[in-house]
Amino acid sequence: MAANFTRPTDDAPSLLKHDEALTLFHEFGHVLHETLTEAELPRFSGADTEWDFVEAPSQIMENWMWEPEVLSRFARHYQTDDPIPVELVDRLVAVRDQNIALKTLRQAMLGQYDLAMHGGDAPMDADEAWAETVSIGLIPGHPDTHMGASFGHMMHDEYPAGYYGYLWALVYGHDMFSVFEEEGTLNPEVGSRYRNAILAKGGTMDGEQLLRGFLDREPSSEAFLAKVGLGAKD
Ligand SMILES: [Zn+2]
Repeated sequence: MAANFTRPTDDAPSLLKHDEALTLFHEFGHVLHETLTEAELPRFSGADTEWDFVEAPSQIMENWMWEPEVLSRFARHYQTDDPIPVELVDRLVAVRDQNIALKTLRQAMLGQYDLAMHGGDAPMDADEAWAETVSIGLIPGHPDTHMGASFGHMMHDEYPAGYYGYLWALVYGHDMFSVFEEEGTLNPEVGSRYRNAILAKGGTMDGEQLLRGFLDREPSSEAFLAKVGLGAKD
């Protein structure tokens, strides 16, 4: 894994910010997907799933980074060796959930803009497409700027017209994580089931079949809706 993390200084080692550790867990999810595959053919191995499923095994990993039980295992003060205080984790969670609706709408807006830019055969007017989609996010862009110009994912090798997959796969990720929430976030039996039903299978089956195999029920958006403050469970 190659990443741009905070460098060590003369007085301190590299001290990862929480969002850097979150990235580490996210990317580690991709690494697990690639390395634990048991698919016979490379075409269907590891993260070679449908493109709008590929961010499920990575985004699910982010959930563990908000669990005090998990963080206290390694997130320690570099001088005193004290584990991260639970109150601090609670505050991190509160900040994560602040403006969650706006953050979610922003992802929907970016997904929509990406689809507009790559959809159809006609040349696309980028300003027009931006003007049409920016309202989804509820926050207007700054005058005389064009956010699309810095939206790297839109031109990423495999992402054109696929950005929506982040939000799409987040629904799957949260649905799968709800099983861990019910049966124990550090439950090895569930972990092993997840490994065999999702990670080992790679892209040998459709995402929906993989989900049914692990969940042992129909996939549901309930856990996702709860996380973004729209569910009964929240
Ligand atoms: Zn990812």
